[in-house]
Amino acid sequence: MNYILFGPPGAGKGTQAKKIVEKFSIVHLSTGDMFREAKKSDKTISALMESGKLISDEIVVDMVRKRLQKDDVKKGFLLDGFPRTLNQAQALDAMLKAENIKLDAVFFIDIAHEDAVKRIAGRRVCSCGASYHIHFLAPKNADKCDLCNSQLIQRADDKEETVKERLKVYDAQTKPLIEYYKKSGIMVDIDGARDEKEVFEQIAAKIEA
Ligand code: ADP
Ligand code: ADP
Ligand code: ZN
Repeated sequence: MNYILFGPPGAGKGTQAKKIVEKFSIVHLSTGDMFREAKKSDKTISALMESGKLISDEIVVDMVRKRLQKDDVKKGFLLDGFPRTLNQAQALDAMLKAENIKLDAVFFIDIAHEDAVKRIAGRRVCSCGASYHIHFLAPKNADKCDLCNSQLIQRADDKEETVKERLKVYDAQTKPLIEYYKKSGIMVDIDGARDEKEVFEQIAAKIEA
């Protein structure tokens, strides 16, 4: 069971990914999470992320290639936030072919830009990896994580100007992947505007089918 989740920033990829990997016991590979870790010690990555720009294909592809060589991915994986450019998609196809790994589906979670802006504006995250929304998925105690009680924070790249830039980057560089994966015949359209549970049910039903 090997899957890709893609869609605009704020579509709910991270939220759904956590539920999917738990239910189906596969590995969550989030390039965004990997770079949030890397940016602590790498100023170039930090600057790119905080301006809403993408990290170079070379760096991303290299990182994913190394990650896919680890043993745990054999039980199945869910790529979240990768690929994000046509170059990355082609590089991934080549890597998978070389390792004789098959993709089962590409879930395209789509929402309108105005909804993406609302979701990102209310997103609050915890250093433990948990993610909330101040209105749509509110923590039990305001600004505290349900799982570890730490103070929730707003991601540095979730500021309004950066969000606009990320949506532009998505339109220019990531949207062409829709056609690419449509042609491959494994793309599944998911209506991301529904509530969290309904989105999960759409995805889980496809995986179980
Ligand atoms: P979102 O939750 O908004 O979809 P992510 O957490 O996936 O965002 O990514 C955050 C940032 O990390 C991106 O804006 C980009 O700078 C960098 N990044 C993550 N994945 C990739 C990728 N596949 N290619 C290039 N940059 C990436
Ligand atoms: P992505 O990883 O695609 O950038 P996230 O999963 O982080 O998106 O979700 C963005 C924000 O929207 C978070 O604050 C999350 O709690 C909230 N969210 C996720 N899914 C839904 C949904 N179906 N309805 C409303 N809010 C959602
Ligand atoms: Zn926490």
